Amino acid sequence: MPEPSPLSFEAIATGGKRAIARALSDIEARDGTREVAQLLDEAAERARAHVVGLTGPPGVGKSTLTNALIRHWRGEGKSVGVVAVDPSSQISSGALLGDRTRLDTDPTDQNVFVRSMAARDRLGGLSHEALAAIILMRALFDRVLVESVGIGQSEADIAFAADSIVLCIQPGSGDSLQFMKAGVMELPDIVVVTKSDMGAPARRAKADVEGALSLAMRKQSDWSVPVLLASAQEGSGLKDLAEAVEDHYQILVESGRLLTQRKQQALLWMKDRIRRKFGEFGLKHARIDSSDNDCPGLFEAERKVHLDLVERLSATGEKTK
Ligand code: GDP
Repeated sequence: MPEPSPLSFEAIATGGKRAIARALSDIEARDGTREVAQLLDEAAERARAHVVGLTGPPGVGKSTLTNALIRHWRGEGKSVGVVAVDPSSQISSGALLGDRTRLDTDPTDQNVFVRSMAARDRLGGLSHEALAAIILMRALFDRVLVESVGIGQSEADIAFAADSIVLCIQPGSGDSLQFMKAGVMELPDIVVVTKSDMGAPARRAKADVEGALSLAMRKQSDWSVPVLLASAQEGSGLKDLAEAVEDHYQILVESGRLLTQRKQQALLWMKDRIRRKFGEFGLKHARIDSSDNDCPGLFEAERKVHLDLVERLSATGEKTK
């Protein structure tokens, strides 16, 4: 077998889109190795992008908005990485996404990179590979957009990875009611009612969401969640959305929350990964030093916790069953 190529951050950063695509495949293929952990730790340390999560039910208009945001950012000269989390591969009929809009980016533009990834489950949860891709792309681009289908609880998954969360609501769909019931009110930083060209139902949905938000606990005292109307068809509201995203980023940077939030996300991600692999029992016995979480080296730390658990659980053998 040929020697696997070394995973060097520098080589990826200077190798263009082909090198990034190759690195993402290598990360998947060599998950759990020291090289992958070191690459991701280096990428985490070099984070430079604002990571924006765009979530909402299928058909709400996420891809259409993603296209619009890519164009907006490219117009400002910013480089953009997109992770599109696609649950359709988990669904045999493939019917869920219906007439989903495809992202139409210029393949020759080296400053836009789009990666579609399968969701962890059919509710659209983020896989470990998607999280790793976000960490890598966060070090390579000015903006990273994570587009994911959110159905109920899986929306919360995006909170592991995004700095700012944009929740999309479809007019007249009952989404706004769903939003109130499902307890996702605490999740978004920005809400967009899409397809505002539909008129009255869009305005009603906006009022419903505003009503629900006014009852919810404010997540932060320095940010009140804006509820915007946007129509990709008419090209309206897109500038407001881009501005709200930028404003939220400024608040995160100025308040210092950008970094604290990322540290919390990293620790939550680590616990979630251990729970998925080893169950609650594993999580209880994992030697996670949470004071460690601000050292640059979380991926290597997670790998060690994993190896330590495998060793100790195999030593206890039957007792753990
Ligand atoms: P996604 O599944 O959330 O990514 O949704 P898409 O972006 O694929 O959009 C789903 C459908 O809604 C497509 O047929 C789009 O043409 C349509 N759509 C998207 N944005 C708008 C809009 O602003 N107005 C109207 N009327 N239709 C839209």
